[in-house]
Amino acid sequence: MKKIAIIGGGAAGLAAAIAAGNELARLGAADECEIVLFEADPERVGRSILATGNGRCNFSNAHIDPACYRNADFVEAALRSLARLSEVSEWGSVQPVGAYGASAQGRAQPAGAFEAPVQRFFSDLGLMWREEGEGRMYPAANKASSVLDVLRAGAAAAQVRFAFGRTLSRIDAPTRAKGLLHLRFSDGSIEHADAVVVCVGGRAVSGVDFPAGIHVEPTRPVLGPLATDSRITRQLNNIRVKCAVSLERSGSLVAREEGELLFRDYGVSGVCVFNLSRLACEGDVLSIDFLPHMPAAERDAWLFARRKHLSARLGENGQITAENVLRGAMLPQVAQVLCKCAGIDPARPLSKKDVLALSRVIGGLCLTVRGIGDAKQCQVSRGGLSVAAFDSQTMEAVCASGLFAAGEALDVDAPCGGYNLHWAWSSGLLAGVSAARSVVSADGEGEGE
Ligand SMILES: Cc1cc2nc3c(=O)[nH]c(=O)nc-3n(C[C@H](O)[C@H](O)[C@H](O)COP(=O)(O)OP(=O)(O)OC[C@H]3O[C@@H](n4cnc5c(N)ncnc54)[C@H](O)[C@@H]3O)c2cc1C
Repeated sequence: MKKIAIIGGGAAGLAAAIAAGNELARLGAADECEIVLFEADPERVGRSILATGNGRCNFSNAHIDPACYRNADFVEAALRSLARLSEVSEWGSVQPVGAYGASAQGRAQPAGAFEAPVQRFFSDLGLMWREEGEGRMYPAANKASSVLDVLRAGAAAAQVRFAFGRTLSRIDAPTRAKGLLHLRFSDGSIEHADAVVVCVGGRAVSGVDFPAGIHVEPTRPVLGPLATDSRITRQLNNIRVKCAVSLERSGSLVAREEGELLFRDYGVSGVCVFNLSRLACEGDVLSIDFLPHMPAAERDAWLFARRKHLSARLGENGQITAENVLRGAMLPQVAQVLCKCAGIDPARPLSKKDVLALSRVIGGLCLTVRGIGDAKQCQVSRGGLSVAAFDSQTMEAVCASGLFAAGEALDVDAPCGGYNLHWAWSSGLLAGVSAARSVVSADGEGEGE
């Protein structure tokens, strides 16, 4: 009996296991090869999936652009390869009839080549979903557990065996052609397999020893809050604002995001900050624009018009203060902090010079980045298995045949919006199908090693 070992039962591992089982069945080889999924958790697979999307699981995106991924060329080649595979493999033959979305017609647009394989995979498993803003896709039941339910059922149907409490610590390549891969676990136990798919995620990958030639880039948590100079942010702790945030390095723009920002006593959080955290370095500057749809000249004109309007209304005795001018445009706490940063006393009459200084700060409150704010809140790790060591057509290691990798274990990450899980499913499906094919096409010369 041959064996495919899947290491890690998160999104990528479950997709790989199901795809491998379905492909073996399609090739008429289900009785010749077992699929064992080794999971470090002592009692269950998919725990990491349950925490995603605030428990709702933003499992994919209706508009996948490979350019938004780290190592974009590798990702694009892999997604194209999966699209070709899904045209011929049975797991991809079901149309996404369960899909419905938030388009004008009330139905999802037909999926493109980069999205279709994942949608077909889940449609085949019976999942219904809903498309929300910016193409974010959630299960119709609005619970991450419904995604895990269909995956567990899919794994059972594909005859995947789970081995819990097994933490891989080392993989050795076969010593001769078509030999078996050797797996060493942290409890000292050893297993052999014809093919191995490594899906241990981003945090754990640096704890595994790989065969020579497979390099692991140092990992660090990203897609999380940023620590900044806190003198300003702690005065606004727990306040949310809709704004645009620019990440600047040495005066040049690195990236810009629009959305909700949450001030914390240590820095800033919110989806737009999470996305910028992938690119931010210590010493970079975050410039927050509180009125992003108002160009600078329009903002100046608006402030002067407010001052004039108030002066006409309040007459000679009324004080035209910054507090009065900004009332209704933003929360008083925010207005007070902006005044302080502009060097204005919010209770004193507002001069022309003050108006211009205030306008500048409203359009660009600057905070210096100190690093990641809270690693525990980070959604992915940057770094991991170097993609240069893997073939994007199959996800197989170039220098160790039979060894495949998928998901966040590879040095691939993306912004919020369902892109990271989309990569986990896609790369898992590609690796699972490729592993099954590699085992079936091998002539079994190495068995019993
Ligand atoms: C709070 C949070 C919310 C998120 N929300 C979203 C979202 O809504 N949409 C989105 O696209 N992305 C989201 N992400 C990111 C997404 O969850 C990951 O990109 C994705 O889960 C990666 O899947 P994976 O299978 O590669 O790794 P993981 O999900 O990390 O799975 C790895 C599995 O391997 C097991 N394992 C680890 N080491 C070993 C070992 N040595 N031996 C055996 N088993 C091992 C682990 O126990 C785990 O089960 C979120 C992440 C977090 C933390």
